[in-house]
Amino acid sequence: MEPVEKCGIFGIFGHLEASNLTYLGLYSLQHRGQESAGIVSSDGSILYSHRGMGLVSEVFTRNIIDRIPGDRAIGHVRYSTAGASHIKNAQPFVVEYARGSLAVAHNGNLTNASRIRDELEAYGSIFQSTMDTEVIIHLIAQSRERSLADRVVAALQQVQGAYSLLFLNEEELIAVRDPNGFRPLALGKLDDAYVVASETCAFDLIGATYLREVEPGEVLIINERGLESMRPFEKTTNSLCVFEFIYFARPDSVVFDRSVYSVRLELGRQLAREHPVEADVVVPIPDSGFPASIGYAMESGIPLELGLIRNHYVGRTFIEPEKSIRHFGVKIKLNPVKDVIKGKRVILVDDSIVRATTGRKIVKMIRNAGADEVHARISSPPITDPCFYGIDTPLRKELIAASHKVDEICTYLTTDSLGYLSEEGLRECVGEDHQTFCYACFTGDYPVPIPAYPEDTQMALFEKI
Ligand code: AMP
Repeated sequence: MEPVEKCGIFGIFGHLEASNLTYLGLYSLQHRGQESAGIVSSDGSILYSHRGMGLVSEVFTRNIIDRIPGDRAIGHVRYSTAGASHIKNAQPFVVEYARGSLAVAHNGNLTNASRIRDELEAYGSIFQSTMDTEVIIHLIAQSRERSLADRVVAALQQVQGAYSLLFLNEEELIAVRDPNGFRPLALGKLDDAYVVASETCAFDLIGATYLREVEPGEVLIINERGLESMRPFEKTTNSLCVFEFIYFARPDSVVFDRSVYSVRLELGRQLAREHPVEADVVVPIPDSGFPASIGYAMESGIPLELGLIRNHYVGRTFIEPEKSIRHFGVKIKLNPVKDVIKGKRVILVDDSIVRATTGRKIVKMIRNAGADEVHARISSPPITDPCFYGIDTPLRKELIAASHKVDEICTYLTTDSLGYLSEEGLRECVGEDHQTFCYACFTGDYPVPIPAYPEDTQMALFEKI
């Protein structure tokens, strides 16, 4: 079964322009998933839905928005690398069952979905998609509890892993965050309407006010009577995803109650303290390296310059020239500013190294632009282990730091030096004293057990082996 990965969710209850505002909310969350987008709305008696492949702006038109009316809606943007680039896996997922209609939007990964699915199928359940989310729907449909909230809780008590979820039926919107709180989920208010979103940047666009986080393990029921909160799950230690701070969330968002920008700036400062180097210029790799590079420059006193410019209009595909151009894929996105780089000792700052393939090409580009020295500085520790909780990382064997030491990665990148932020430095910057985070991608310590995966792959968890 395929995981739901790198997703963004948005919901609103009690606003006459619910679909339109959801569309705008999804627009702000586009960085969390570019493969498909969908909205389900309700006028209190029927659910209306539209889903499609592509960007939010490609999937929705004015006409389509007008055809999903009502004062409540949930929306989803999705990205998955696992080959299931298919409309049947686009969310929100909508079903009709004995108690009416139900829609669900999920950000996260369930770690025991395959086992539950096998059991359900053995008793005759028929699945329509390959999404782990569908397991939750089946469990809800089987529950004998009376209210939707109780059925949702009964279902979620059987699943494990990461889930920030939105449910919509004819009467109410339910928002849930898993007891570990892996993925973020924020609560806001717009006039009399409640809004829920993966990140607060979605509130800013529509003029909503951020109230607070949906707490780990909290279930919010939003209906005509207002908002009610339940905490039905056994309390456990928080495992907030630290990678949201490092790379995934937008810097203008507040996530886990902290400004992402401020945390990234601090990561850059800490990186400069841990890995100083004599150089002439700090150059960020756009866009993900920006905040940390500002922190690095502030702390080191070395000037920051935009030595790499990104073309913001590059889509996912482009027609390559017949006679292939070397490193075309990177060159179409990034171009060095020779005046900034020529004859300089350059500190190149990025947030993370995954496979190091892009990084290597960028270093080559900087050298070709005439740099005297190139020093890579990375504002996270080496990524050694895949994520099973909702971030799309490649297989372990493709993660360069899983099998190479820092000096070997430095050689591969062809940099004069390479410095990664230490795990201790990261822990200090994110404020371990208030919160506890998941560092599994850097340590291999998985806070929620993951089944053995024989192929040493991430996907083997969800596929039929
Ligand atoms: P590479 O040089 O191939 O290791 O790519 C590293 C770049 O990928 C960095 O600039 C990161 O910002 C970015 N990155 C890190 N994690 C992810 C992810 N889960 N999905 C997509 N890009 C990522």
